[in-house]
Amino acid sequence: MKLPDKELVIFDLDGTLTESKSNLRPDMARALAALLARKKVAVIGGGAYHQFREQFLAELAVPKPLLANLFLFPTTATTFYRYRGGWRPVYQFLLSKTEVKAIKKAFADVLKEVRYVPPRKTYGKVLENRGTQVTFSALGQDVVAALGKQGLRLKEEWKKENTPLKIKIAKLVQKRLPKFEVRTSAYTSIDVTHKGIDKAYGVRKIGKTLGVPIKAMVFIGDGLYPGGNDHAARRTGVQCIAVRGPEDTKKIIRNILTLASH
Ligand SMILES: [Mg+2]
Repeated sequence: MKLPDKELVIFDLDGTLTESKSNLRPDMARALAALLARKKVAVIGGGAYHQFREQFLAELAVPKPLLANLFLFPTTATTFYRYRGGWRPVYQFLLSKTEVKAIKKAFADVLKEVRYVPPRKTYGKVLENRGTQVTFSALGQDVVAALGKQGLRLKEEWKKENTPLKIKIAKLVQKRLPKFEVRTSAYTSIDVTHKGIDKAYGVRKIGKTLGVPIKAMVFIGDGLYPGGNDHAARRTGVQCIAVRGPEDTKKIIRNILTLASH
């Protein structure tokens, strides 16, 4: 199936529709409004629903009827929200209290083992229970919310200096949690979920939930390279388009709309 004939466009959120943990920009909101008038749109990301609400929905000024075409899949599609007069959860695969406890203990043990030295200042929770996922963020969940661009710079700096350490921590946590999936993501984070929760799971889950076959979807993400957090999506056979950031994404949306109108 050719791009303009696809029924559903799936976007990664962070780094694809927005800069990392930054708000959706007005020009992207306009592009999405135009797309929603023609296609079903799904947004998938590692962040929790509250993150989607603040970073994405709050800035998405589109006519209400169009929201029926928009489907949100926070925490890698272990949660699904749709619009029915308001945003409502359809399903949520929560981690149990015991599971969350075990994950937190694993991090505490590993950080001790590697003699982890935390950054001088952190912003918000470093270890966050997102319901379906527990996430470690070296600088804290709220560093970008608190510092804006400066927060992004801090994340980039931390990434440059500490990526080998981040990978080591993730490996050691994985060893202690064989029943879970431990994954590093773009900058400063390590995500822990039930096993088998990745973007491949997400794409299949989205397809099943919305009743759209893989060949009628396209996936757009900034982490489609090997080792990137969108790479697993390729396993499903869905058509994938790699972008470097929101500017590229806007061009792709424009392409779909131009081609679809002929
Ligand atoms: Mg991304």
